[in-house]
Amino acid sequence: MERTILHCDCNNFYASVECLYHPELRGIPVAVAGDSQLRHGIVLAKNYEAKKCGVKTGNPLWLARQLCPNIVFVRPHFDLYMNFSKMCREIYSQYSDRVEPYGLDECWIDVTGSTWLFGSGAAIANSIREKIKSELGITISVGVSFNKVFSKLGSDYKKPDATTIIPFNDFRKIVWPLPVSSLLFVGRATASLLERKCIDTIGKLAQTDRRYVKDWLGKCGETLWLYANGYDTSPVAAIGEQPVIKSIGNSTTMPRDLINYDEMKITLMVLSESVAARLRQHNLQCETVQISIRGTDLSWIERQEKLAAPCCDSTTIYLKAYELLKKHHQNGKPVRSLGVRACNLSLRRFDQMSFIPSVQKSRSHEAVEEVLDNLRSRFGNKIVQRGIMLTDAALSALDPQTNYHNLVLSTVHSQ
Ligand SMILES: [Mg+2]
Repeated sequence: MERTILHCDCNNFYASVECLYHPELRGIPVAVAGDSQLRHGIVLAKNYEAKKCGVKTGNPLWLARQLCPNIVFVRPHFDLYMNFSKMCREIYSQYSDRVEPYGLDECWIDVTGSTWLFGSGAAIANSIREKIKSELGITISVGVSFNKVFSKLGSDYKKPDATTIIPFNDFRKIVWPLPVSSLLFVGRATASLLERKCIDTIGKLAQTDRRYVKDWLGKCGETLWLYANGYDTSPVAAIGEQPVIKSIGNSTTMPRDLINYDEMKITLMVLSESVAARLRQHNLQCETVQISIRGTDLSWIERQEKLAAPCCDSTTIYLKAYELLKKHHQNGKPVRSLGVRACNLSLRRFDQMSFIPSVQKSRSHEAVEEVLDNLRSRFGNKIVQRGIMLTDAALSALDPQTNYHNLVLSTVHSQ
């Protein structure tokens, strides 16, 4: 049976919420931006007035001001955005029990079973749009189609405050002329590889022999070929369904460029502690540790290695991360940001006893850290700290950025 799937995308989400609370900002160019003092000074979101001047997400503040001299920068209020995100999901849940979030401001809704109650996919999309506008004061774009990938394309097709329908009978006419980069999961590297093969539209990708695409891009390429042909059968998750976690990572941009390893050690420890605590929170352990290093020239590398045995304690993760850093980072080259990721996850429950001394040590660390988790949840993060954290207050006070991207990807490829 043909499904009816909606993809709802809040237009300029952060900037719209800020303008709602600061009506004096409406009609003038606004960008939500991080703190330039802490070197998080990039544009996180912008409204249409700023967009018209050429301001893009990710632009540094000086560039945004150069493009748009009268731009107003506002600091982000993530609690507020979380609240609005929750309120949007509550409205979506009035139409279906299958609502799957994709980041804070996007959701898929499977309304196949609700059309008897609320009318066609388009009617439901328009009704949701009106409701969000009148109850929350922000606008959304909705794509309506027979699978998740095309409904997402639909919500990007026309903005703001619009509904785009991509029906099964017409998808070739609407989707195939679009640039291949607009397809979900086609990143910059994939797009440029395909373009070198003269595949610049979704239609050309769909009409290329499936085996060639698999040869060039592996299994992911085959998935993209299926998407381009409309064969995406991934389900929309039910409300409250927890996606499979494939990896847990944290990264941060430091308040200053780091040159010596002693300083980098502090940052790696902050990140490892946060990653290990999140592993334990989900009752998981990791077998592989990955680090990412961004230089001041914005060069970027990722390196990973396996551990002797699965673990979820910060010391083992930190030691491996530090080993990777020393192995792959050129000594003396300044570092702008660092990331630590735990990969190859498994459930903690079924551990075999080990006689390897390093593994036994790691187990005893885990026990101590569980006590710390408990103390920190009751009395705050600073109740017990490692000695290394006291050597540099600015670095140890960093707030690691949680990266949920893989969480979301894993749901899309869950089948
Ligand atoms: Mg959006």
